[in-house]
Amino acid sequence: MAEWQRTHTCGELREAHVGQPATLNGWVLTTRNYNDQVFIDLRDRFGFTQVVFEADDQDLFAAANKLGRETCLSVRGTVRRRLPGKERADIPTGLVELKAERLEVLNACPPLPFTVTEFPDEELANEDLRLQYRYLDLRRRSLQQILTLRHRVCKVIRDYLDARNFLEIETPLLGKSTPEGARDYLVPSRVFPGEFYALPQSPQLYKQLLMIAGYDRYFQIAKCLRDEDLRADRQPEFTQLDLEMAFVERDDVLTLIEGLVKDLFEKCLGVTIQLPFPRLQYADAIARYGSDKPDLRFGMEIADVTDLAAASEFGVFKDAVAGGGVVRAVNAKGAAGKYSNTALRPGGELPKIAETFGAKGLAWMKYEGEKFTGSIEKFFPDPLKAELKARLGVGPGDLVLFVADNPSVAAAALGALRSHLGAALKLYRNWWEERAEHDAAEEAKVKDAARRKQAYTPQPFRARPEHFRLAWVVDFPMFTWDAEEQRWAAIHHPFTSPADEDLPHLESDPGRVRAKAYDLVLNGYEVGGGSIRIHRPDVQARVFARLGMGEEDARARFGFLLDALKSGAPPHGGIALGVDRLCMILGGTTNIRDVIAFPKNQKARDLMTGAPAPVEPRQLKDLGIRI
Ligand code: ASP
Repeated sequence: MAEWQRTHTCGELREAHVGQPATLNGWVLTTRNYNDQVFIDLRDRFGFTQVVFEADDQDLFAAANKLGRETCLSVRGTVRRRLPGKERADIPTGLVELKAERLEVLNACPPLPFTVTEFPDEELANEDLRLQYRYLDLRRRSLQQILTLRHRVCKVIRDYLDARNFLEIETPLLGKSTPEGARDYLVPSRVFPGEFYALPQSPQLYKQLLMIAGYDRYFQIAKCLRDEDLRADRQPEFTQLDLEMAFVERDDVLTLIEGLVKDLFEKCLGVTIQLPFPRLQYADAIARYGSDKPDLRFGMEIADVTDLAAASEFGVFKDAVAGGGVVRAVNAKGAAGKYSNTALRPGGELPKIAETFGAKGLAWMKYEGEKFTGSIEKFFPDPLKAELKARLGVGPGDLVLFVADNPSVAAAALGALRSHLGAALKLYRNWWEERAEHDAAEEAKVKDAARRKQAYTPQPFRARPEHFRLAWVVDFPMFTWDAEEQRWAAIHHPFTSPADEDLPHLESDPGRVRAKAYDLVLNGYEVGGGSIRIHRPDVQARVFARLGMGEEDARARFGFLLDALKSGAPPHGGIALGVDRLCMILGGTTNIRDVIAFPKNQKARDLMTGAPAPVEPRQLKDLGIRI
């Protein structure tokens, strides 16, 4: 071992080491320079240790005085107890310090573009700057904790599946386009000019072919690539836990995943999740929550009041119902005071949301004192009001919001309002918000105790089961009508099996065919989706035809699959879970870039390397590309 190499990590020294020599390697987190002493906190990913340089060794002291933040060091010294009153109960190494005897600067560091030390009240530097210097940003403690968590998540997944006879098998990155519904990233072939590989949107077809090949129980922590416009929780390349099983039915997959999710929460967050997860029919989820990924941390269910609206004297409602529409409502409990009548006018906060989702307007009533108020209240005779009150559980201070439209617009608009109001009215707490409050309160207690020259050991925050509401959404429709393209489109992907009892309607009434598909939802996020697959070649051919793919077209694109299905394909099904989203929720962040070591920005650019970037004309020529 070279003399400068560490004997301990920066998170390791305790009281038991007092009197012993130790060498630490790490980066200067902070410096505090006094007349006769220099203190530095030396950091590595395991923690930090206070190192003290004293004036008795003048050369050493002078060298220590010059140290700047993020200099990379080796320090040898002797572990000693901190002076009484100088202990820190909030860090594991807080009872000791290293009295330095030898210092070696392993590498200097110029002043940084931003600070990587995380102080509780300090705002982070601009994200673009942090992404440009991602290797510095990754030195931050919270990112190190999240990437450590991500490692743990993958380890738990591998252990759980290995113990259940799954094989981890890699599938190609250079492949053929799979229709998951997004745009492909294409890679031009040099050998076959004008031809392209597609980077996988998922390993869907390969995993089905593995089932046909007899590799029952496959999984892969797979990179998937979709060239989509990015939203807050999307990245062009993301990671899925992709798995597939042969000889299974839906409940086998759901039960397996429930066990895995329970393990993940227990081992990564110390939270015990109750099994089984509730199952919601798709139609029910849409009717009650206006969404196929409902946030179940709060109620505010949507109620159908079409019958009452039809019986009222309100022309807008009556016309909507007469035209085949529905009238649905939510009761925002206690919100009457929060939204003034002016704010509820067209163009106001809530009407704007309803309009964004296609509604022509938003009607409302408040319940104030002992009666309904608002401009449409007068159109509802007393018995209707009594029924409305009972159906929506209306009480003093409540605000009832109505949308009259076709069922899908009413669901989408009220679903969006429900999500918005859930957050605005604080009907649930995000666990990380509670953690931030808890940590700030504990920090204040540490400071307070220090002022009184006492020690206080802060209590760690524990997330609780009620912070996480998981559910399965099942029985999705198989197809949706694409009005723009004037054809039926698959809701999941075209390899999803229709429900057996709906097969006879495949050609005659595609809209009523349900799919053997399921989604896993967590706190309003879709964290996974999968299905039982089609394993009969004739059914696959019928589904392709239903999607408007002619026989020749289907053969050209998926001939290999149709042939494989004819070669003794077993019944099979599987699922994919979004590893990034799971890590976000387990790690307590709403920023997907926090859980990816080297993410792209919102425009799909890597600000650190500059990718995508122009290439040499020679490279383009090789590929037969002219731009
Ligand atoms: N391949 C699907 C997806 O990426 C998941 C599955 O059906 O297993 O959404």
